[in-house]
Amino acid sequence: MSDRPLPTFAQLGLPTPLVHALGRAGIAAPFPIQAATIPDILAGRDVLGRGPTGSGKTLAFGLPLLVRLKGGASRPGRPRAIVLAPTRELAAQIEKALDEPALALGLRTSAIVGGVPFKGQATRLARVVDVVIATPGRLADHLAQGTIMLDDVLVTTVDEADHMAELGFLPQVTEILDRTPASAQRLLFSATLDGEVDTLVARYLNDPVTHATAAAVAAVDTMEHHVLHVPREIKYATVARIAARSGKTLLFVRTKAGVDRLTDELHAAGIPAGGLHGDKPQGHRTRTLAAFTDGTVPVLVATDVAARGIHVDDVSLVVHVDPPTESKAYLHRAGRTARAGETGVVVTVVTEDERGPAGKVMRAAGVDVDPLDVGGLDRRWEDVTGAREPSGTPVPEPEASPAPPKKDAPTDRRGPGSQRGVRGRGGARRDGTARPGPGQSRRRRGGN
Ligand code: ADP
Ligand code: MG
Repeated sequence: MSDRPLPTFAQLGLPTPLVHALGRAGIAAPFPIQAATIPDILAGRDVLGRGPTGSGKTLAFGLPLLVRLKGGASRPGRPRAIVLAPTRELAAQIEKALDEPALALGLRTSAIVGGVPFKGQATRLARVVDVVIATPGRLADHLAQGTIMLDDVLVTTVDEADHMAELGFLPQVTEILDRTPASAQRLLFSATLDGEVDTLVARYLNDPVTHATAAAVAAVDTMEHHVLHVPREIKYATVARIAARSGKTLLFVRTKAGVDRLTDELHAAGIPAGGLHGDKPQGHRTRTLAAFTDGTVPVLVATDVAARGIHVDDVSLVVHVDPPTESKAYLHRAGRTARAGETGVVVTVVTEDERGPAGKVMRAAGVDVDPLDVGGLDRRWEDVTGAREPSGTPVPEPEASPAPPKKDAPTDRRGPGSQRGVRGRGGARRDGTARPGPGQSRRRRGGN
């Protein structure tokens, strides 16, 4: 994608009502990936799209997909387009992004995801829905129950295909694709295209046009990267001080249990924080995300799975509380900040024992920075993070509902990091928590 001026949405072939709807949402000119894919998708080509996080892939496939449906009519229970997304949150965000543009064309969208009652979805599907945005597990369930038919599908999109593969959803994805007409148009989008995704492409895409932007997230020049070398004993106290900063802060930890522990620690230290992972009930997840999005709860603690694909504007700091174990994860986590040209800081907290592996991951991600030491005289780490002393006055958990891990986890939530790994840091954590004084023991959840 070069520097030459990009055409307008109208010049790319989008109809006027759609262009106006975009304008009302503050979307005036196409991003490069959109300028690249829209004409090909409108022309009916299969498209393979790769762009860094935040580059605008949703509208890159969503807008032309909607236009392809314009003028036709969907029958009850038979959508004419499906979009598959790896997580419920991502599906909800895609639905939100496409809802208004769809209405502008007289089309109806619906998100069909796990964790919400099946029956209501079946009722919804029994009416006319033009575009179904779904997680693969739940859509496969509807297929099995006969509450949806895919024989009228004209366009299928697989978003974040690489992540779909990582989560083990490819069997459901192929099952779903197999139920769409072989002649249907297929679009596959992802931040990276490799591994099992190649298999999917070879099997389901017909003479695809590939549109890729070279830039890795780490190369985004509005993004700043730092590594903090932190003694393990003060790791959690350090994270609490960072989380006490002003501005939206996203904290990544490795396990679901780690999310629960860290949010508890933060509440005890006086910091309102939400926790997001796959075992939280859907209502809780939706509210947590909404509170983070609107800034009511400025700190979000999440696992990779839960946070993947989410875009919340104005996240000014991303913290890898547990260093990622692969560069792709680093880039995806980092991509939650510095979105759409905003500035953002990415900080990786590294304890002594993590230095070797973390260094490897960072180099692979293209990040080469001098580490800053925490715990000594050098206070530069505070400048880059905006860290400050938390109030120390415990805050109640922002969410009303405590979230006991669910045994009956919905079918499309079987990502990594389930109950395994809980043992990880139990002991070490206890010494260096965010607690300001010995008088404040760890709060229990749900005591409100
Ligand atoms: P990706 O899927 O590539 O990570 P998204 O589709 O989630 O990126 O888009 C990232 C952000 O950019 C969203 O907030 C979206 O509303 C915004 N955005 C997308 N396209 C445009 C555009 N043409 N103009 C302005 N903002 C846009
Ligand atoms: Mg996306």
